[in-house]
Amino acid sequence: MALRNIREEGDPVLYKVCKPVKEVTPRIKELIEDMFETMYEANGVGLAAPQVGILKRIFVIDTTGEDPHVFINPTILETSGEQTGAEGCLSVPGKSGIVTRPNYAKIGAYDENMEYFELEGTELLARAICHENDHLDGHLYVEKVEGDLFDPTEYMEEIEEDEE
Ligand code: ZN
Repeated sequence: MALRNIREEGDPVLYKVCKPVKEVTPRIKELIEDMFETMYEANGVGLAAPQVGILKRIFVIDTTGEDPHVFINPTILETSGEQTGAEGCLSVPGKSGIVTRPNYAKIGAYDENMEYFELEGTELLARAICHENDHLDGHLYVEKVEGDLFDPTEYMEEIEEDEE
């Protein structure tokens, strides 16, 4: 396993539509392992293949640190409700923005053995599913931000000051 270089906003690879995966080759297995390692190292909850420069329809999510999922050729099957909250992206380091997303999402995808599964998520998991799926079509969350991007560490300090 190895850490991969995370591509940042402005890199053309982040704005392209990714191609479906035909079969999980040893190279793709290695990519998936590297994506998990890179995501955990960066303290992220999700990472999509284009973020490490690979234009394939693959992303990984782990919202708790103990719930890893890989999604290959995913399709969002159903969404409902709404949540508005702060969102960030490993490709836009040091920034957050307020984004409204569905509060529930159901996704169908293939796992690392190319076996089909469906997964339902609410709240953070639903947000992560929608965010990562957008990456596969060349979209970044900053397109959906309401208001300005902010530095999340300063934002937290402001909240703490307000509470005093
Ligand atoms: Zn992202």
